Amino acid sequence: MPAIIRESKKSRGMIRSLNRAAVRDDKSPAVAHKTRTPKDPSICERCGAVYERKTWRADRRITSDLSAVADWTVCPACVQVGKLEGQGRVVLLGSGVAAHAALIRRRIDNVARRASATQPLRRVVAIDELGARGDEGLEVLTTSQKLAHRIVHELKKLFGGNASYSWQDDGTLYAEWRYDLPKSGKKARGR
Ligand SMILES: [Zn+2]
Repeated sequence: MPAIIRESKKSRGMIRSLNRAAVRDDKSPAVAHKTRTPKDPSICERCGAVYERKTWRADRRITSDLSAVADWTVCPACVQVGKLEGQGRVVLLGSGVAAHAALIRRRIDNVARRASATQPLRRVVAIDELGARGDEGLEVLTTSQKLAHRIVHELKKLFGGNASYSWQDDGTLYAEWRYDLPKSGKKARGR
């Protein structure tokens, strides 16, 4: 486990949930463990995702025929969003992160929107600023480690910088991306 170098209120919640996961005797991820398999079909009452033939889908139209036979439930992603828990944690650090925070947030939103369009369980739980004045970086919690990986991959593609990934025994991913502006560009116009 890498040293946790920055911590926001929300990541403390997540770390607590990871600790709970660690004391269980099996290795199944916390969320998979906590949520029962829904009745097939089911509809998420929060996001409208449909569970059918063992898969959650975002693009299934909720017809009256479907809602007549389906159970109403809360999908695992909405459960995690509600509890501010996640399977992925991304920490973004470096002078370039504060300088380009708006653009970085837009990029993350885009990546998350594309992911959840086909995989409704892949979602951003929260984006928080790090540091007392919120200028040390950003922390992103995601419901899925694949989405956390994707976000870092896309940011690295767009800006450069350095990425590291650390998969935990409980199936969660801790990823870090560091992006520093070149020294001379540091005082360049802020946004
Ligand atoms: Zn949902």
